[in-house]
Amino acid sequence: MFNDDSLKFLHRLLDTPGPSGFESAPAKVWREQASQFAKVRADVAGNSIADVNTNGAPTIMLAGHIDEIGVIVTYIDDEGYAYIAPIGGWDPQVLVAQRIRFIGRGGDVFGLVGKKPIHQIKHEDREKASKITDLWVDIGANSKKEAEERLSIGDAGVIDSHTMEFPNGRLVSRSIDDRIGAFVVLEALRRYSEKPGAAHVVAVATTQEEIAWGGGGALIGASRVNPQMAIVVDVTFATDHPQMEKKEIGEAKLGGGPVLTRGSIISPVVFNLLRAAAEANEIPYTLQAAGRETSTDADAIHIAREGIATAVVGVPNRYMHSPNEMVSLDDLDRAAMLVAETCRAVDSTTDFTAR
Ligand SMILES: [Zn+2]
Repeated sequence: MFNDDSLKFLHRLLDTPGPSGFESAPAKVWREQASQFAKVRADVAGNSIADVNTNGAPTIMLAGHIDEIGVIVTYIDDEGYAYIAPIGGWDPQVLVAQRIRFIGRGGDVFGLVGKKPIHQIKHEDREKASKITDLWVDIGANSKKEAEERLSIGDAGVIDSHTMEFPNGRLVSRSIDDRIGAFVVLEALRRYSEKPGAAHVVAVATTQEEIAWGGGGALIGASRVNPQMAIVVDVTFATDHPQMEKKEIGEAKLGGGPVLTRGSIISPVVFNLLRAAAEANEIPYTLQAAGRETSTDADAIHIAREGIATAVVGVPNRYMHSPNEMVSLDDLDRAAMLVAETCRAVDSTTDFTAR
């Protein structure tokens, strides 16, 4: 189970802004927590790496990406309005009228996303969706010069929102994708460190997933860690709210336990280890199929070095890529337990070859 410190850490981690390529603040929070029970390092891509049972074998990499989607300043006009481009996959409708928290050189800079009032929008245009290029950010400046004293082209930002707990053990935050993956792998490592098995286990808070799941931080991290096996923890679409198509994406509900992916890039060996650990420890789970890439760090990790036996553990998440993503704390707890127990089941006799 979680301890109080774990949950305090989770809130701090979620509320620290860190869009892809700008993850250093949440990475610092993660490494500080990891250093309580693991050997910690960082690399050139911004990945944070925490080792337990360093002399054990084989080596297992647990990957959760610590970045989140955000925006970047592209231009500031003469009136001091800033224009932005997306970092990662936005629905521009979600950005309209939000407050933005930029990571400025001198600290936080707050702005709001402006749009013409409905009264001023022509009738024929009212049904049309906003494009990100139709929007601007007002930081309360009087001029370009004044704006540039606080904000620069290339500064990144996130929606300014705070983590909340909802009834039934639910957690709401803008950065659940995939700060909770970075949290779960560290929580799994902490539990593993209390009762280690034979394996050397390395948790990695990877960077840049939202802009390049085929490479970026995960590939660099896997090359450095050189594991024989990897488990990626990422969010997956919960299908227990209106308008989700179960026939296409399968069944995943909040509180239903972790979602195990079977599919073309998934190692059947690691999948079987996960399923066996879930069954042995009575952890509920559901299955998800991926006939091609998974759109997670697994796509990069499984082809790193000479090939790494990789599987994905999903956490059902509602309202992906919005300021109010929602997961169940029970699912985080069970995902951490499942990953820790799976690591304990691996030893030097485990054969990762696909036969
Ligand atoms: Zn995402």
